[in-house]
Formats: sequence, structure tokens, C-alpha cells
Amino acid sequence: MTRPDLVRKIRAAVDVDAVTGLTQDLVRIRSENPPGRETEIAGHLRERAPDLGLAATVVETAPGRQNLLLTTGSRPGAPVLLVNGHLDTVPVRPNAWRHDPFGGEVADGRIYGRGAADMKGGVAAALTALQVCRSLGLELPCELVFHLVADEELGGAQGTAALVARDLVRADACLDPEPTGLRLCLAERGLMFATVTTNGVPAHGSEPAKGRSAIISAAAIAQVLHDNEFPQTPHPLLGTTTCNVGTIRGGSGPNVVPEECLLEIDRRVLPGESRAMAVQGIVDRIASLGLVRGTDYDLRVDTFCEPSEIAPGHPFVGYVADAFAAMTGRAPGTTGLPFTTDARFMRNQLGIPAVVFGPGDLAVAHTVDEYVEIDALVTAVGVYACLFAGFAGTAPMADNAGGSSADTDVEGVPSAR
Ligand SMILES: [Zn+2]
Repeated sequence: MTRPDLVRKIRAAVDVDAVTGLTQDLVRIRSENPPGRETEIAGHLRERAPDLGLAATVVETAPGRQNLLLTTGSRPGAPVLLVNGHLDTVPVRPNAWRHDPFGGEVADGRIYGRGAADMKGGVAAALTALQVCRSLGLELPCELVFHLVADEELGGAQGTAALVARDLVRADACLDPEPTGLRLCLAERGLMFATVTTNGVPAHGSEPAKGRSAIISAAAIAQVLHDNEFPQTPHPLLGTTTCNVGTIRGGSGPNVVPEECLLEIDRRVLPGESRAMAVQGIVDRIASLGLVRGTDYDLRVDTFCEPSEIAPGHPFVGYVADAFAAMTGRAPGTTGLPFTTDARFMRNQLGIPAVVFGPGDLAVAHTVDEYVEIDALVTAVGVYACLFAGFAGTAPMADNAGGSSADTDVEGVPSAR
């Protein structure tokens, strides 16, 4: 079959009802994280696996935390294409929603609900794409593996990081169907959550000059970090870093010069910037105020997730771009993500080229009345089917783009996004 014939057949075989129905099914199964409960949704997909010709393995990393590993089965010498998608979602405050967050309602060409965009729609589209390939009787040139994982929203310690630690992630390339508005996402910022604690000298509130206020030091630090004047070169897809001072807590009462004040900060980092470099940047900015670490303040890194990227010219990027062009008749746009995804484990730790590409608008992920466009789901199914039908292997990552594995720290991540 020629490539244009194949593309025509795939386009005709995409089943709108199938991808819509599966997305609705997944939205209706709650899997919010926290608290983290992926067992029911993993079980639902496990039951469907035989219909897709997939063999299933469940990896439970903690009670209620299940990762579902599916494979079409290995063929001697065939390259392995991994689809990594997460089954957890961020929580919901239902009162603010106009649509039932767990109803999977269809309106105006959209499916509404928590996870519709991030990323149950993407998972449904990838599984439906395999169904399309099977319905056409295509023999895939690759082994197709799905890792439908827990805990991405809180950093992946119970999900992809656990699979990596158990040496269960082996692939030649990885597709991550997170919501990118059907653009190819080739880079993502990392993050560092840190706590700055300023030290003061307490005194009676009636004589503040006799003490030194930890709150006044913290206020100055908050301003200088918020100003974000870190030395940096803007990234073509990611722009600049940012620094948000998210919480402040200090003092014991109005009549006491405060002895201690805590600031929690969220510093986003660009590819090439390590944990040590990010810490040094903050220390240097605070030093410009004349404040010394260890004396005037302490700095503790609470979480570090490293940035990652793949070269735009990498052959696997070409595979995904070609599949997109074949299905839509136009070249895909490229983009970067301001936050981290599980793609960083592939790119940084395993050297597996990873492209994040999926249906759903990034801007509605994690929001009230989250939705995914059915048209985008249908396009994604076609692009994924083209990719699955054409993937014949690729080169590993040339180098470690974002940081070393020693930088990865997903223990106790309060919110990776
Ligand atoms: Zn996501």
C-alpha cells in the first residue's frame, strides 16, 4: 500500500464515536491526585486491553496506585514505540463548574470534564489509533507499548519515576499525548520549589529599632526574586525563567519584632540550568541586598524537577511531523511547555527521544469546565495511527539536554505543575 493510500484509509477508518465514547468513559472514572487513586481507571482499561490485542501488566507502587503497562507483543528486532500517558488528574472544586466535572457531557463539539484535556482525551486517542490500525489489518513495523501511569500531576514518584527505577522503561522513542493544542512540544521548563527562611532579632514591638525584623528582610527578598533579574538567555520555545513568591509566613504578634519569616518560592528553570545553578542564582540575587546565606537567611530546596528538550532536527520529531502533515495537509507548529511532564524522564535519564503532542488546549488543563474538542481528538487519532503504522526506529538522544539524573528529585513533590 502506498503512503497516500494508507493515509486515506486511516482517515476513513477513524471512528469518532469510539474516541468520544472512550474519552467520556475515562472522564467518568474519578482519578484525582491528590489523593491519588488510579486503580479503578487502570482496571477499566485493563479490561479493554484484549480487544486491542494488548497484553497487560499492572505495577502497583503503593496501595491504590496502579500503573498499567500494555504491549502489542515484542517482535524480534522490531523497534519499540512507547506511548506514555498519565491516568491521574488534578482535583476538582465542583461548585465552580457549569458542567458536571465527572459527567463527560458533550456540548458544542466538546467533551467536558476533569481530565478531558489533561490527559484522558490523549490517552483515548492513542488507544483508538491502535484500534484503527487493527481494523485496517495493518501489520505495525514496531512493537507498541503503552505506559498508562499514576501520579504525573504530583511529580511521578508513584508513576513514571517508579517504572524507571524498576528498569521497566525501554523504548526507541516516546510519544506523550499531553494537551499541546496539536502542536509538537519539544522543550519544557523545569521547576525548583524552595523555602527561604529569614532570621531576625526579636525585640519589644514598642522599640523596633532594638531588634531586626525577619519580615522586613523577607519583604526585600520577595521583591528581588519577584523581579526575576536572573542572568539568563531566553530559550526559543520557552522564553525566560520565572520566579513566583507563593507564600509568606512570619512573626508571632503585633507587639514583637519578628524573629523568623518563611517564603516559599517557585522558580522555573530552562534547559541547561542545573539545580546548583538555580540555587546559586537565588543566592546571588539575595546577596545584592547585602544578606548572607547561613547568617541572615537559610535556603532549602524542597523539590527539583529538571527541564528537558529534544533537538527540533531529531529524526523522531520528523516522524511525528510527517504523520501530522500526512493527516492534515499542513506542517505542525512547535511549542514549549512552561511546566514539566513525564517526558523529562525519557529525555534526560534514559536518552529516549520524546515528543509531547496531543489534543486539548493547554490553557484549559487544570481549569474549571475543562474540555477537549472532538475535532482535535479525531485529528490526533489519525496522526497517531499514521505514526504507529510508520515507525521503523530512530536514533537515541544525542546528549542529555536538561540535566543529569542526579538532578531528579521527585520525593514529596507537593505540586509539580
Ligand atoms: Zn498532564
